[in-house]
Amino acid sequence: MSVHVPKIDLRSDTVTVPDDEMRRAMSAADVGDDVLDHDPTMAELEERVAELLDQPAALWVPSGTMGNLIALMLHLRRGDRFLAPEHAHVLGSELGTAAWIANGMPEALPHDGGPGRPTPATVRAVAGGTGPYYTLTTTLLCLENTHNFAGGAVIPAPEWTALVQAARASGLAVHLDGARIWNASAALRLSPATLAAGADTVQVCLSKGLGAPVGSVLASDADRIGEARRIRKMLGGGIRQGGVLAAAGLVALRSMDRLADDHANAARLAAGLRELGVGAMVPETNIVLVDLPHPQVAAARLAELGIGASVTAGKLRFVTHRDVSTADIDEVRDRVAADPELLG
Ligand SMILES: *Cc1c(COP(=O)(O)O)cnc(C)c1O
Repeated sequence: MSVHVPKIDLRSDTVTVPDDEMRRAMSAADVGDDVLDHDPTMAELEERVAELLDQPAALWVPSGTMGNLIALMLHLRRGDRFLAPEHAHVLGSELGTAAWIANGMPEALPHDGGPGRPTPATVRAVAGGTGPYYTLTTTLLCLENTHNFAGGAVIPAPEWTALVQAARASGLAVHLDGARIWNASAALRLSPATLAAGADTVQVCLSKGLGAPVGSVLASDADRIGEARRIRKMLGGGIRQGGVLAAAGLVALRSMDRLADDHANAARLAAGLRELGVGAMVPETNIVLVDLPHPQVAAARLAELGIGASVTAGKLRFVTHRDVSTADIDEVRDRVAADPELLG
């Protein structure tokens, strides 16, 4: 087995390592005990993200999963049902906590509005009205922008607005899982605030394309964020001198402009593979899905060559990020060109 190939890790945009600037900011961070007094750097990061999302308040959380869970705990009670597009992270990738901790019965919606999203009509139809006392009460629509398993698919702003309106008309609150809202923002050239307008709660990740080692932020109104702080503590997510971590988040936020490079690399990879006759989907952001009969076999073969890919929703997935270069992308294409069996 060849070991003299560079490791090109396209399994996820979570594999990035903090750069020198980020490490310096972390070591120099102004800190306090966030559980007792609200750490000053945590507070600065939370204010900054609230501002970016045009929400009144925000709370740092250790992970996107905890951010989504806290949001769902704020919205749901026993006997409630929530709606989310099929293959949403909250449905299949959070161990079912939406149901067994947040008490919501999940209902998956088809992607009939385009990749990763339902139509407003479907939201209205599935939300329904009030039924007999023994039926579930549908209280929440949870959307994902970009939609991970739909290949980093973006929800265009007019559709987002129409979906929020449909939810409102049906009496539903709206949670946005904006783990990669920064990518949607770069792709559409619209501010994150525009793409989150009208949401009651928004979760955003700092540890994906933006490159922080840890951290997400949940944004909402001041009352919900006050309660979210209590729930975070309940879940064991109160961090003491969290400023060390928040400082990385503040640096991460300054790297938003370079996401367009990741999108260009994803487009380049997809185009290169398609030229070779490989069925790669044309990416909207930084995720390339490839439809293959045996994606697990392909991922294992690529791994032998030092190329990391993952399998999601039955497809081979490549994710571009700040630690892969255009030359790396070209090397992946060359490897596939040299061995047509690789993605066969
Ligand atoms: C990664 C991800 C999350 C969860 O973030 P973690 O920090 O890994 O817990 C939530 N939603 C989506 C769409 C994601 O891609």
